[in-house]
Amino acid sequence: MFTSINPYNQQKLRTYRADSVASIERKLKQADRAFADWSALSLGERTEHLRKVGLYLLANKQRYAELMTAEMGKTVKEAIAEVEKCAATCTFYADHASAFLADEPIETEAKSSFVTYQPLGPVLAVMPWNFPFWQVMRFAIPGLIAGNVGLLKHASNVFGCALAIDEAFRESGLPAGVFQSLLIDSSAVEGLLKDRRVKAVTLTGSGRAGASVASIAGSQIKKSVLELGGSDALIVLADANLEKAAEVAVKSRMQNAGQSCIAAKRFIIEKSVKKQLTELVLHHISQINQGDPTNEATTMGPMARLNLADDIERQAKASIAKGAKSLFGGNGSAGSPLRIQRDGCNVQPILLDRVKPGMAAFDEETFGPLAVLIEAKDEADAIRLANQSDFGLGSALWTQDMDKADRLARKIQAGSVFVNGLMRSDARVPFGGIKTSGFGRELSEVGIKEFVNVKTVWVENS
Ligand code: NAP
Repeated sequence: MFTSINPYNQQKLRTYRADSVASIERKLKQADRAFADWSALSLGERTEHLRKVGLYLLANKQRYAELMTAEMGKTVKEAIAEVEKCAATCTFYADHASAFLADEPIETEAKSSFVTYQPLGPVLAVMPWNFPFWQVMRFAIPGLIAGNVGLLKHASNVFGCALAIDEAFRESGLPAGVFQSLLIDSSAVEGLLKDRRVKAVTLTGSGRAGASVASIAGSQIKKSVLELGGSDALIVLADANLEKAAEVAVKSRMQNAGQSCIAAKRFIIEKSVKKQLTELVLHHISQINQGDPTNEATTMGPMARLNLADDIERQAKASIAKGAKSLFGGNGSAGSPLRIQRDGCNVQPILLDRVKPGMAAFDEETFGPLAVLIEAKDEADAIRLANQSDFGLGSALWTQDMDKADRLARKIQAGSVFVNGLMRSDARVPFGGIKTSGFGRELSEVGIKEFVNVKTVWVENS
């Protein structure tokens, strides 16, 4: 049995019965059967199905948003935007998939030679709770349009969202078995990966889960894509538009109560503008309206689970113990204990200054409303600090010198660099990381080609 709990008030929402061994087997059989028919449809027929899914999502966005808010605490406003982004991604792939997956003629001495893209079969998606609709849909929309079928193992605190996504596919008219949620815990994933009917896996989540899933997939010679954690640097150089940089930095760090994989987790600031930027950051943090996520006026809801709030508190305290200084959200100063302003999952935003390598807030991923200020001597030092991380997901760079931006963007070790803007995922551009942030890419043309057989066809005269 799984129980979902409203993180804002700790009230029990609903209990879900786990899929039995027999029910998992039924769903696997159905996925296998559905693949034969679904992959035989034309690409145009599949894209029209997904276009309808987008319309269904829009028609039900308020209900789905309220469900997300109840299960994991994001504000209703953020949740509505999430459903709209899923719907827009349906339209994006419906419009572009035929170009992305068109056969590619290749000039050789053969009579004809070309590359064609064909689906793999049932793909397992192991997904996290932080964007309970978006994380699933950004795999499912391109994956299904390419002709695969999906099996979802969602995070166990958002099973209501898992069933709602099932419903959206079903009610939009997708054939049975093309997309199915399995209500299972993580220990059941190994058996699925070892089942011959499951052809590949995509996991979004922690490094620990990613390493386990990829090693099992590897032992079965099955393709895996991993979208893991990050500790994204946001570099502010002396010539940056500081007002804008501070505003976007705080938004990037605090949206979704700080629980976003791609977010400004380390503010790295050139020394000459650090004092000024700190004041601006403090101003924006103090404007955050924390509270009931169902309330329109609330700009930050609770964290999703008590253990995640415990983690962020530990990381802040450990960093203070090593010399960081709290400027907001606690009363600690260097060397003295920090008292975090917290009520269950409701954690007040925290701002730490004097953060350095060797502190938890620098070395580890911080998945909550914790912003940290790191001083860089100069531009070269800023890049060195940004790259001094085991992670390499996103990053941001603030400067008004476009030559410098172009030069430095290439030096940052990350899957993306956003210059003078908010780091984000966007269906038009590839998304993913390097180092321990994972491998493979989602979204764009690159993403739809992760779960296809890139087949060469070479034809000579008989
Ligand atoms: P998590 O504990 O790794 O859980 C993610 C998913 O993996 C859940 O469905 C979970 O199931 C499952 N899982 C956990 N351990 C597993 C194992 N050993 N074998 C198979 N499945 C396993 O991650 P989380 O704490 O929920 O999510 C936060 C993490 O995800 C952060 O590190 C964040 O940066 C990362 N993330 C990355 C991206 C990206 O695109 N790069 C996006 C969002 C989040 P249960 O719920 O049943 O444990």
